[in-house]
Parts: sequence; structure tokens; C-alpha cells
Amino acid sequence: MRADLHVHSHYSDGTATPKELMEEAKALGLGGLSITDHDSIAAYEEALALAKTYEMQVISGVEFSTLHEGESVHILGYSFSLQDPGILALCKRHKERRHKRNLQILANLEALGISLDRAQFSDIEKTWGRPHIAEALIQKGVVSSIQEAFDIYLAEGKKAYDPGESISAEETIAVIHQAGGFAILAHPHLIKKQRLVKSLLRLDFDGLEGYYARLPKKQEARWLALATERGWLITGGSDYHGTIKPYSKLGSSWVDEETFQLLYQRFCKSNPDQVRS
Ligand code: AMP
Ligand code: ZN
Ligand code: FE
Ligand code: FE
Repeated sequence: MRADLHVHSHYSDGTATPKELMEEAKALGLGGLSITDHDSIAAYEEALALAKTYEMQVISGVEFSTLHEGESVHILGYSFSLQDPGILALCKRHKERRHKRNLQILANLEALGISLDRAQFSDIEKTWGRPHIAEALIQKGVVSSIQEAFDIYLAEGKKAYDPGESISAEETIAVIHQAGGFAILAHPHLIKKQRLVKSLLRLDFDGLEGYYARLPKKQEARWLALATERGWLITGGSDYHGTIKPYSKLGSSWVDEETFQLLYQRFCKSNPDQVRS
């Protein structure tokens, strides 16, 4: 049994609906899935209702962009209660943080003579992010690819970048824990500063994401060893975003049955009303 634990739906910057994700996952032979939208758990109503139809075990998941020692760090939450007021409030705060940041990026672009229609980023049910702004820049003919949009305007330190206000890694981890979930350091190999890695490894994480799309085996081994030393969980997923990032395929990274069942059991415990036989 394989489960992809890092997938984005159209509730954030993925392009597929939860139903399409389940269909695709089923067709690929996956047995488990977590939809880890940025700042949002909106996919779960649909996903859980369809779990039986697609013979898919689904666990709660979410991805937050936090700040630790001045750097952006992504944290995955799994198996938390989908009704927990703390998690819902944290999603709202992260979403508001991102919304304000998006508006600042749009203002920065405007100052550069590029005006994008703000209304298209205003639906608060959905998590808008830099990839959407990149798409709008392509549509306007300012750049020809998402990568170019990041390289010139949107990546950290580039012309229109804004970090937004910060929500700390520590606080985000604590809220995930209070909601009965596991807090996982997402794609740690993307963190280049070793001082930051060292500091993150001292935080109260339950695990790290050791299996990730296109991560070279040698790098993978380093993260698996660091997790094993600490007795941490090792999670994995493709970070599938659909057509917006076509190079990461659904199911291209995954965890096995043993890891998945550990997370699934905790999910059932945190969400007794959701348990399906
Ligand atoms: P946001 O969550 O709105 O800050 O946007 C972050 C997303 O933008 C990440 O999940 C990546 O998919 C993408 N991204 C961030 N930095 C880059 C970059 N330098 N080049 C391309 N895509 C990037
Ligand atoms: Zn994303
Ligand atoms: Fe991420
Ligand atoms: Fe992601």
C-alpha cells in the first residue's frame, strides 16, 4: 500500500479538485492520501465524503509557511482534528497573513508599472499565493513562465517580494499538537542554511518529510538518518500541484502502509465522527 501525503488541491495553489485528486490517486493504485493545502482544510468535506467511493484512506493535512530565525520554513500538520478551533483559527491567521502579503506584492508590482486586477485574488475561501500572481503575470504578457515570474519578481529578495508578517514555527507546531496532530518539517532539503537546519532539528517536531519528489537518494539518506537518530516519523509525498507545476507527479513520492497506518490511527482518534470502517 502506498500513500501520498503531500498534495495540493484547488483550494490552494493546486489545480485539481479533491474529487479529481481522489480519482487520479485511485487510478495510480494509491491507497492513502493527505491533501495538504496551504492554510486551508477546505478540501476535507469533499474528500472525506468520497473516501469510500474511491477506496481511499484519507487523513487530515495542511501546510503552513512559518518564520524561524528570519527564514521561511514550511510545516506540515497531519492527523489533527478537523474541528479543532485552534487549527481553524490558525488557518484563518495564516490565510490573512498571506492575503495581506499578496496585496503588498501587488502594490510592489504596481510601483514597477505592472498593475494586476486585485479582484481575482479576493475569494477568501481559497488560499491565493505567489504561483497565482505568477500566472497573472504570464497572462498579462509580462513574463513567459512561472519560473521567470519568480526569478525576476516573486522569489525571496526579488523586485516585488514581500515576506509578510511572521507566524513562528514554534507556535504553529504547538497548535498542531493541541489539535491532536503530528507536526512535520516539510521538504527540509530545501533549507540551504545549515545553521537553520540545526536550529530546526531542536524544535518540537514529530518528524520530517524524508521522501520527496525528485530528491536525490544521497540527500534522502541524510534526512532519513537525521530522523531515525531522533526517533522521528519519516513522511513523504509528491507536493503535487497539478498543471501549475507539471514536473511533480501525483504518487511520485509516498509512504508505506506502516507509516500511513500510524498516521491514520491518530487521525481516527482525533476525528471519531469521521471514522469509516
Ligand atoms: P507562497 O506560498 O504564496 O509564498 O508561494 C510559495 C510557492 O511558490 C511555493 O510553494 C513554490 O511552489 C513557489 N515558489 C517559491 N519560490 C519559488 C522560486 N524561487 N521559483 C519557483 N517557484 C517558487
Ligand atoms: Zn503550493
Ligand atoms: Fe512547501
Ligand atoms: Fe506543498
